[in-house]
Amino acid sequence: MYKTIYGPVPSRRLGISLGVDIVPHKICSFNCVYCECGKNTILTTERRDFVPIDFVISEIEDFLSKNPAPDYISISGSGEPTLHSELGTLISKIKKKFPDIKLALLTNSSLLNEKKVREEIYPVDLVLPSLDAATEKAFKKIDRPFNSIKLENIIKGIADLVSEMKNISTKKQIWLEIFIIEGINTDEENIYALKKAIEFIKPDKVQLNTLDRPGTEDWVKSTSIETLESIKEKLNLPNIEIISKFKHRDEIKHYRSDIEATILETIKRRPLRLEDISEILGLSKEEIRKYIDILMNENKIIQKTICSNGSYEVFYGPKR
Ligand code: SF4
Repeated sequence: MYKTIYGPVPSRRLGISLGVDIVPHKICSFNCVYCECGKNTILTTERRDFVPIDFVISEIEDFLSKNPAPDYISISGSGEPTLHSELGTLISKIKKKFPDIKLALLTNSSLLNEKKVREEIYPVDLVLPSLDAATEKAFKKIDRPFNSIKLENIIKGIADLVSEMKNISTKKQIWLEIFIIEGINTDEENIYALKKAIEFIKPDKVQLNTLDRPGTEDWVKSTSIETLESIKEKLNLPNIEIISKFKHRDEIKHYRSDIEATILETIKRRPLRLEDISEILGLSKEEIRKYIDILMNENKIIQKTICSNGSYEVFYGPKR
């Protein structure tokens, strides 16, 4: 129904988040090996007015006139959002029209070395920039950037954004996302370089992620939870968390196939909330969450956000 907004989707990081997509599919300054949006990237750093901002605002207005407010409006999507030349206008209009909803921006950080781009982003409440490597070799192998993009400029750009936004308000948050790929950015040299970059950038949080769904290249596999834990330990910084939800069954202690079967059987009758499943099975929500993650990753169940009594609730049902 809408062209530039999607969701709202339940997100672990952002709660219920209404997505805003302002760049056409896979127009990006990177061509990441793990990208879930497909292979064909139009690789560019040229900023363009891809969709009229007033149209995007009218879609958000229409959605919010019929639905409760989400926790966040998030500008992200299937291309790099900072490539939109009117990003600054969009951000100021959203903040002005919907002052009570927090605004987030996900970016690959490639344009953050430009002062103008950083200034456009200042009004955002939460920026989630990514930095997948701090050595040139791993950066090129993972992100396959447009040829004029320099890693050192990216690191400096993120660091400048952090200090400039914190000067405006200490409440503004910058969470750095690092995508871990076994054998590419998992060795001592890369971990050490990442640690130096993080210490220089000083983000509020660092979030380690790995592949949940198939990426662009078949050789990119999900990194084990042990490797992620070991990287977290080696980085040895206070604000690091692992956000990847995917674990293999054999990585989960006491994983029970009878519980998995009961969950599937129970939600087959009617879609249920996490709390309902937890109550029915007499297990904690955290415990149920482990099974839900595996089953969702295997496409056996789906989640749906439903608006009821003026708020959003997430239900789980079978994949038909
Ligand atoms: S930056 Fe994002 S959209 Fe662009 S290629 Fe990488 S994962 Fe895909």
